[in-house]
Amino acid sequence: MEAIQNFLSDLVPVLQALGVFLGAYLVLLWAASVLWAYRDIRRRSEDVSVQVLAVGLVLLLPFVGIPLHLILRPPQTLSEKYERSLEEEYLRNDIEEKYVCPECQRPIEPDFILCPHCNTSLRRRCSGCARVVDLTWSICPYCGDDGTTASRQAPTVQASNYRPSVEKTTR
Ligand SMILES: [Zn+2]
Ligand SMILES: [Zn+2]
Repeated sequence: MEAIQNFLSDLVPVLQALGVFLGAYLVLLWAASVLWAYRDIRRRSEDVSVQVLAVGLVLLLPFVGIPLHLILRPPQTLSEKYERSLEEEYLRNDIEEKYVCPECQRPIEPDFILCPHCNTSLRRRCSGCARVVDLTWSICPYCGDDGTTASRQAPTVQASNYRPSVEKTTR
């Protein structure tokens, strides 16, 4: 009987030390979670009231505050948001560059010859194969026409009536 009492009295300081250790451990975990929440919310929001709310939540509700914070925090970090906005802007510019009149900046179709808004010449129609080619190209990439063959061939084509004479005058 005395042996059991002695054992229990020996056990008390051990249990006390264990309790202190566990308590310190939990406090450390809680402090770390508050620090983590503070860093995390600063990466996600520049709004001071949002930062105070998030840190206060984790501070006042130890351990329960972290899952709550994970649910309530802004889904994107500021750098992710910034990257996404850059990406969207880049995509927008890419589309605009391809299909915008160089004169009036209004939307056009890629195969337009004239801008329907300001009548600027955008492309020319090849006199050899009638396909739309760039104004800066000296030779048609589809049929090799460089502008001289058409004028030489034009009379014979016209004579054989393969093509209406209107085609020639539009050049
Ligand atoms: Zn235009
Ligand atoms: Zn051509």
